[in-house]
Order: sequence, then structure tokens, then C-alpha cells
Amino acid sequence: MICMSQALHLFRIQKLDTQKDQITSRLAVIEKTLAENSLLAVAITDKTTADQALEKARINLTRAEETVQAQNIKIEENESALYGGKVRNPKELQDLQLEVASLKKYLAILEDHQLDAMLALEEMEQRQRQAANHLAQVEAQTAGQHAGLIGERSQLMRELDRIEAERRAVASAISPGNFQIYENLRLQKGGVAVVTVEDESCAICGAILSPAERQAARSPNLISRCPNCNRILYAG
Ligand SMILES: [Zn+2]
Repeated sequence: MICMSQALHLFRIQKLDTQKDQITSRLAVIEKTLAENSLLAVAITDKTTADQALEKARINLTRAEETVQAQNIKIEENESALYGGKVRNPKELQDLQLEVASLKKYLAILEDHQLDAMLALEEMEQRQRQAANHLAQVEAQTAGQHAGLIGERSQLMRELDRIEAERRAVASAISPGNFQIYENLRLQKGGVAVVTVEDESCAICGAILSPAERQAARSPNLISRCPNCNRILYAG
């Protein structure tokens, strides 16, 4: 075995694996964002709701208009009976007069309803326009954001290829036994198996190292471990 420090190789592979982990988790976020965009989903729902409300307001107005029209026809029929000359009986004429008056009174109420329906329709038209504009805006933003994310994804994947190649080269210099220790520690210790010695301590858990432990960490052939967190120490 070429005796360049195993700890150095392990430290280098740890750096590469940490980069790999960061890229992998960023890629997962990108994939998730590309798959589901909550802002867009909300804007689509709002637009659909506004479309439906607008359609309902249109139907309401049409109904109100038809009701007013029907009422006007009833009034016309009664007035033509009243003034047509066919009915001569004073009691019947009086009844017709009362009927016309009552129909006209109710017509005023129906016309109020029609006006309300018109105002409601105008409001719904405005809301629907706003929802449509908002959706168009979100769609444009999303398209821009997606283009950015797709670009970032290809860049990260190229970076990942480069790291993999470098990692293979470094891994070939590590003994199988040490590599196994490293891989097991990575699994047990949240992805960080190799730590630097900083200020005479383990850089991750902060355990203070004795002079002998620091000395061992600098040895080119030994693999020394943090006495507290058990990670591989690299003294640089
Ligand atoms: Zn430690």
C-alpha cells in the first residue's frame, strides 16, 4: 500500500460525499417543486371558482329578466282587458284595476331583483377577470421558475458526475477495510464519518482531544477515532 495518509483520503472522500449529499437533497427539492407548484394550483382553483360564480350570476340575471318580462306581459293582458271595452261589469272592472295595481307593485320588487342580479353579475365579471389575470401571472412566473430549476438541475447533475469520477479515484486509494469502516460510520453518523481536529477538539462533537489522540490523528497510517462520537479524526 502506498502510504499516503489513509485519513487524508478518507477526509477527501468525506468532502466529496458531503457535496454529493447536498446536491442530492437539492435535486430532490427541485424535482418536488417541478412536480407540484402550490401557488399555481391555488390560482387554478380560484379561477375555476370565479368561472363558476360568473356562470351562476349570468343564469340568475337571465331568470330575473324573464320574470320581469313575464310580469309585464301579465300587466299588459290585464290592462287590455281593463281598457279593451269587452268587460263592462263595474265589479269586474274594479277587480281588474286592483289586479293591475297589485301586479305593478310586485313588478317593482321584481325589477329590484333584476337590478341586484345585474350588479352581482358585474361584480362576478370583475372577480373573474382578476382571477384570470392572477392565474396568467402565476403561470408566467412558474414558467420562469421552472426554466431556472431545469437549468440548475442539469448543472447539478454534471457536478454530480464530476464528483463521482473524483470519488472513484480517491476510493481506489483507500484500503477495503477502512472503506468499510467509513461507509458504516456514514450510515450511523448522519453522513459525517470523518471530522477535522479544530482547536484541539473534534470539530463535530466538540470533545477535547488529549495530546496522544491528536498525535494519533496526525499519523499517516493509523486510523484514529474521536473518543466521544467515534468518528474518524483528520488532523490535516
Ligand atoms: Zn467527536
